[in-house]
Amino acid sequence: MSADLITERESAGVTPDTTNARTSCRKSGGVDDACGEGKPNCHGPHSLRTASVWERSVGARQLDLSCIGIGAGPSNLSLACQIHEQIGHGALFLDRQVDFRWHPGSAFDSSELQVSHIKDLVTLVNPRSGYTFINYLHENGRLYHFLNAQFDAVLRAEFEQYLNWAFRRNPLVRGGETVREIRYDGEFRVRTDDAVLSARDLVVGIGKQARIPPQFQGWIGRNLFHSSDLLHIHPEVRHKHVCVVGGGQSGAEVLLHLVGGPRERRPASITWVSQRENYLPLDNSPFTNELFMPCFSDRFAAMSEPQRKLFLRRFVLASDGISDRTLRAVYQALYRHEFLEPDLCDIALRPGCNVSRCINAGAGHNLTLQRGLGDVEEVTADIVILATGYENAVPSFLEPMADRLKQIDNELVIDEDFSVCWDGPRDRRIFVQNANPGQRGLADPNLSLLAWRARRILDSLLQRAPCANPVHSGFISRTSVESWPDPLAEEMGSGI
Ligand SMILES: Cc1cc2nc3c(=O)[nH]c(=O)nc-3n(C[C@H](O)[C@H](O)[C@H](O)COP(=O)(O)OP(=O)(O)OC[C@H]3O[C@@H](n4cnc5c(N)ncnc54)[C@H](O)[C@@H]3O)c2cc1C
Repeated sequence: MSADLITERESAGVTPDTTNARTSCRKSGGVDDACGEGKPNCHGPHSLRTASVWERSVGARQLDLSCIGIGAGPSNLSLACQIHEQIGHGALFLDRQVDFRWHPGSAFDSSELQVSHIKDLVTLVNPRSGYTFINYLHENGRLYHFLNAQFDAVLRAEFEQYLNWAFRRNPLVRGGETVREIRYDGEFRVRTDDAVLSARDLVVGIGKQARIPPQFQGWIGRNLFHSSDLLHIHPEVRHKHVCVVGGGQSGAEVLLHLVGGPRERRPASITWVSQRENYLPLDNSPFTNELFMPCFSDRFAAMSEPQRKLFLRRFVLASDGISDRTLRAVYQALYRHEFLEPDLCDIALRPGCNVSRCINAGAGHNLTLQRGLGDVEEVTADIVILATGYENAVPSFLEPMADRLKQIDNELVIDEDFSVCWDGPRDRRIFVQNANPGQRGLADPNLSLLAWRARRILDSLLQRAPCANPVHSGFISRTSVESWPDPLAEEMGSGI
């Protein structure tokens, strides 16, 4: 390390206090502030001079931590809450958002949580935690009202408020910090816009990126965009023809948003295209939900690659279908538009269609819809909204180390403790969250196993045996896919 670095070397271990963020924080404006629980995140004494390029870090003060989390969305926030309650210090979680917003570009007013609120940041590993959803209701004086309201499902807007409450009350979380680059020279050096921080271990939890199918690439703009940008762009849809591409939950929610606005602001017509043969429901039945238990995550990891691929394809509706309530709301909207409020907005359904081509046409786009091999339809839309899902990408800030990290397809290869297999020392680890569905199964991106996965990472960070939660192993002890030999699994997978 360069001799002219001023280094706050407080500790290399998890246990001693390294962040000290609870007791003395400095707001970015430079005013000293006691940053206790419940206060907004603020820049601590380790807030550093701007180092806009890596090399300019020489001269910056450094803080050495045991663990730096990149991102403080639900995945890393769960870990931050567990570390805060169990240890209190030794870790810092950086998020580019100043306040936590949960997928803000598609946070529609009526959207609901698709899982039980018990699958919050901590309850499934520690129901006694202060970071439970129930405690959030309690501390905000609305526990009784929540009960009386008898929601069928928690509104996503409320779950976002809960997440932001946890984000702001946790002193190990610092908002407004974008991680730009990470290097390794015996320690991990994490460069943000303002600082270079050092740590022994990293936990990457930055979520997924919008998936733009190749036929739409090159056309992205204000009249053709991904659904995750809808509320950022707020397109003027009045009197226009909108095409929604994608027949999953996001596509359904976009459709409801378009037809749910005030009459005078609705589009003239909507075409809703889905590759699937129909608009299919999410499988939320009890035995399917066994796939979202910790024991199944480990069983999935133990399967061969062909078995895992087959499993993901067979059970895709366990995570990618449309919730029952949303499907009903869509059907009721169609009913209203057809029979009660005719001529208001024409809605055309196009299931079983693939958009094989997209080209620019005046102010809009022309899409070629292909059904099967021969049946082709041309649709011209003023606005195209791609509800085409999300995908993994190896984060660009890991680029300097990319050739040291083991990768299959677009996933980093992980061990059972969610640490990446790499060529560095075994006691310097990079954990990744919500980035490995191909290795950990359908539950990887959603809230179901978030608390359990964070607990497993924490156990590994502390080098302790995984906590033995008394969790039953599930009623289905073995599925047929698990007993198929690889060639058969491959053949079955390709035939679906
Ligand atoms: C619209 C939508 C609705 C969903 N609804 C549900 C649901 O109802 N139930 C369910 O189980 N799952 C749902 N999911 C799945 C969802 O992915 C998870 O619930 C959850 O958001 C995953 O959390 P995460 O922390 O892994 O990722 P994210 O929530 O994406 O959080 C990642 C965080 O990383 C930060 N970040 C990214 N890059 C950087 C960087 N370079 N530096 C610093 N910070 C960075 C971001 O600001 C963000 O806060 C939904 C997903 C979407 C898109």
